[in-house]
Amino acid sequence: MAVTTTETKTHLNFINGEWIKGSSDDTSASINPADTGDIVGRVQKSTRDDLDQAVAAANEAQTAWRKLTGAERGNYLFKAADALEARIDEIGETMTREMGKTLPEAKGETARGVAILRYYAGEGMRKVGDVIPSTDKDALMFTTRTPLGVVGVITPWNFPVAIPVWKMAPALAYGNSVVLKPASEAAVTAAKIVECLEEAGLPKGVVNFVTGSGSVIGQGLIENTDISGITFTGSDTIGKQVGQGALARGAKYQLEMGGKNPVIVAKDADIDLAVDATISGGLRSTGQKCTATSRVIVDSDVYDDFKEKLVAKVKEIKVGDGLESGIWMGPCSSEGQMETVLSYIEKGKEEGASLIAGGNRLKDNGLEKGFFVEPTVFDNVTTDMTIAQEEIFGPVLALMKVDNIEDGLALANDVEYGLSASIFTTNIQNMLNFIDDMEAGLVRVNAESAGVELQAPFGGMKKSSSHSREQGEAAIEFFTSIKTVFVKG
Ligand code: NAP
Repeated sequence: MAVTTTETKTHLNFINGEWIKGSSDDTSASINPADTGDIVGRVQKSTRDDLDQAVAAANEAQTAWRKLTGAERGNYLFKAADALEARIDEIGETMTREMGKTLPEAKGETARGVAILRYYAGEGMRKVGDVIPSTDKDALMFTTRTPLGVVGVITPWNFPVAIPVWKMAPALAYGNSVVLKPASEAAVTAAKIVECLEEAGLPKGVVNFVTGSGSVIGQGLIENTDISGITFTGSDTIGKQVGQGALARGAKYQLEMGGKNPVIVAKDADIDLAVDATISGGLRSTGQKCTATSRVIVDSDVYDDFKEKLVAKVKEIKVGDGLESGIWMGPCSSEGQMETVLSYIEKGKEEGASLIAGGNRLKDNGLEKGFFVEPTVFDNVTTDMTIAQEEIFGPVLALMKVDNIEDGLALANDVEYGLSASIFTTNIQNMLNFIDDMEAGLVRVNAESAGVELQAPFGGMKKSSSHSREQGEAAIEFFTSIKTVFVKG
């Protein structure tokens, strides 16, 4: 069992290189969803004045920051990576206590944050443009990149290290200054990332951090005219508001939102592999990944075999406090999240799906102190049901039977989302059809739907994204503008 330190520190805002108290005395407590008696820390309930101060500091710092060479900016990110690496165990533990994912997952995510910082540190030395032949033989024409200016970063609670880092690292590498508004439910973890950036010695004002509610601080970022770009990850409901607000005043925006991700299991699939990947993709992190498998579409020839194996393994899953060794699945991240999941389970039953595993809140052996829901499987799900259409963001799998792979692909596409999808098959034509026809930004063959590599572009189609991409080389498209240069001697 990991050792938990009782930590009730109040984390301040980080503005212009200093940790300062918000202008209001109000703070909010970050509660451990595995044990509501454990307060992980407190954060400021900041006001618009606090935010405006942070934006002003970022604005002031941006010019000098963008005038540094890419290599100089990259060096700060290398130092931040070292600072984060030295705190993997501690920050991993904070993450587990704050939003519930298991400690190995939390440490793995923090290590990924380190790798992302190093990747974008290297971006400072990579090419930023192309030479394009001019029709004028005496001229040189080329493209270069210019940063947006001040970037507002709004992040969700489910990847409290990786997402802030995969947004802030490229923003900084390409010469922008940043104001981060983290999810309230994971703001203590986010404060610790900012501490690592501070330790790297970034010039004051280049990174700023303001906690507070989405409706005050998030909305303030959308409206502040000194912010040139807003990068948002979260639900599609809020994302739509962010996009509309940014568009209304001509700011650049990027929205990365939810998913309703399918796995298709063909009759020629390796069934054991597909079962394991469905469980891992659907239920790890308590199903609270945007790329989590939610719909499981299986060929009728192998349906019963697949279902039997799946349910047997789901019933073996050990649920509990993610700090304890041997625990495979932690709690929902908050009471609200748990209530949402339970209401979707009720809806599934009401609409005629058959509950074949789980379905309840867990309240025995100390689990009543937290927000635990059993890993849940529904059978006989049809595409018109709510649980087949809406993002649940919890440990719930919906099994759907199809007669052939073509019907499976049509069903997989029959949702408004298009983030990630997988297929399990040994047939190359099935693979090729899936890669070609699946409406999702991330398509994976014989691998779980929830797998993202930091060096590859990531983003969705349809309602899952503003059709932008983040991570890898794609990040430069959002965090810079192309400038076409024509020079004549
Ligand atoms: P959320 O409720 O939309 O919140 C996301 C962020 O927006 C939080 O920082 C939140 O602040 C802030 N916010 C809330 N109201 C706002 C407003 N009116 N204006 C501006 N900002 C506002 O989402 P979540 O529950 O944190 O995260 C889960 C969702 O994120 C799921 O839908 C999941 O699929 C999606 N997600 C997508 C990806 C991807 O890359 N596509 C990755 C991870 C998660 P508060 O916390 O203070 O409310």
